[in-house]
Amino acid sequence: MKILNFIKDHALNILLPRVCHGCERDLPASYKLPLCGDCNAALREPGPLICGRCGVTLPDGGNRCYSCRGVKAAGFKCSLIRSALVFTPEARSLVHNFKYGGHVYLQKFLAEKMRAAFDKTTEFKTVEIICPVPLHSFKQRRRGYNQSALLAQNLAENKNIFYDEKLLLRKKNTSAQAKLKKAERIKNVENAFECRADVKGKIILLVDDVCTTGSTLEACAAALKAAKAKKVYALTLAREE
Ligand SMILES: [Zn+2]
Ligand SMILES: [Zn+2]
Repeated sequence: MKILNFIKDHALNILLPRVCHGCERDLPASYKLPLCGDCNAALREPGPLICGRCGVTLPDGGNRCYSCRGVKAAGFKCSLIRSALVFTPEARSLVHNFKYGGHVYLQKFLAEKMRAAFDKTTEFKTVEIICPVPLHSFKQRRRGYNQSALLAQNLAENKNIFYDEKLLLRKKNTSAQAKLKKAERIKNVENAFECRADVKGKIILLVDDVCTTGSTLEACAAALKAAKAKKVYALTLAREE
């Protein structure tokens, strides 16, 4: 069996040379991580000082960031956002390769990061349904998979929580949020989602790959709250600082 594994690793290495997803340095065939030692060490979790609602890093401490304070706080439909990693260059390369590069096998490594972040958040213990932020059907067909759905399903199976990939429908084929400013992002995803199932009184966890301003999560949460969900939380793989 050992010999078989050895042959398999080496054959794969010849067919598909292994390089670090962060810096593209060559990796030995027997090396199991998708990042070299240096890039892996550069991955970090947000915090320890983060906003109590949106999870953004607060370099000077405090309970809430400016956007989540005071009267604004009451208006949010998504009451808690947490993320597994800070969106450092290494995390960015991993997410990019997972999302656009077809490197679906990265989900195993990334799902472990998601699980660790889930376990750290007490509120998530009450979650009854996990669902991903959906892609529009055009995009999903073109890409062949929804990276957030892979992470969400993995988490739900591991935590034994009900998973509903089709709970939300993306009605509008919105432009990529990355190219837009904050106000444009909110407008871009406004009313883009529709809830397709009975979620009355339920506590739901949304899963997405990256959180920047939280506009997409908020638009999804708005659709779920309109369908009478009790609470909506979110967990993303990475978080921009
Ligand atoms: Zn590297
Ligand atoms: Zn905040």
